[in-house]
Amino acid sequence: MSTAPKTLIAGNWKMYKTEAQAVELAAALSAGLRDSLPEDREVLLLPPFTALKAVAETIRGQRLFLGGQNFYPSAEGAFTGEVAPFMLADAGCTHALVGHSERRHILKESDRFIAQKTAFGLQAGLHMILCVGETLDQRTHGSVENVLKGQLRLGLAEVNKDGVTPDRLTIAYEPVWAIGTGKVAQTEDIVAAHDLVRKTLEDSFPHCGDKIRILYGGSVKPDNAGAILALDNVNGVLVGGASLQVDSFTAIASAV
Ligand code: PEP
Repeated sequence: MSTAPKTLIAGNWKMYKTEAQAVELAAALSAGLRDSLPEDREVLLLPPFTALKAVAETIRGQRLFLGGQNFYPSAEGAFTGEVAPFMLADAGCTHALVGHSERRHILKESDRFIAQKTAFGLQAGLHMILCVGETLDQRTHGSVENVLKGQLRLGLAEVNKDGVTPDRLTIAYEPVWAIGTGKVAQTEDIVAAHDLVRKTLEDSFPHCGDKIRILYGGSVKPDNAGAILALDNVNGVLVGGASLQVDSFTAIASAV
């Protein structure tokens, strides 16, 4: 029987930071978290592609993981502007994001493309973080359950279910209206959404669905992180804006 993975604190740097700025932030985070990060937590940094290699060198030997924000689901080929999972691994990445709301809504990625990426990334050896979440309109119309179940079912449709283990797959629940807006979901809404995700994971992965981590994302800040991390079925947080400053991300990563 596998043990439950550690609480994951992930920082999505989006399209921010030059290489030099990224190295400066990564170095400050390594130093700040060296003594303050609780033993039962791990930290993942998701810089832009152009800073991956330099950040990998900066955090080498530290308790920090590196991930890619995106990739194309193919080993190589004529895909101008894209990056393959193996290239992420070559740059030092162990993890990758898929299904982030900015890629679903701004880059118009479909559930089918997200499914291909999830399955291909897992096959390529990456730990995949699949993001799901409803828009405000969908919440207002009472569709949260349908949206989350649908995104999970479709996003995981091409995955070899028996091969999944909790150290290779994480789900992030990110209500779209809470991302970058300063609006955090109500406690009862987070608990209800995470409970629904948990039940869906237990159905899909009877051998390990109870241990797959479910992160909350959406305006997580130092003053709300401790309370969110204490909720049932919240196994970590995915942080955008507050991960760009050393003080706020260090405070979130060590929040109790
Ligand atoms: C995100 O980018 O996934 C996110 C949750 O952003 P923010 O923390 O800024 O809301």
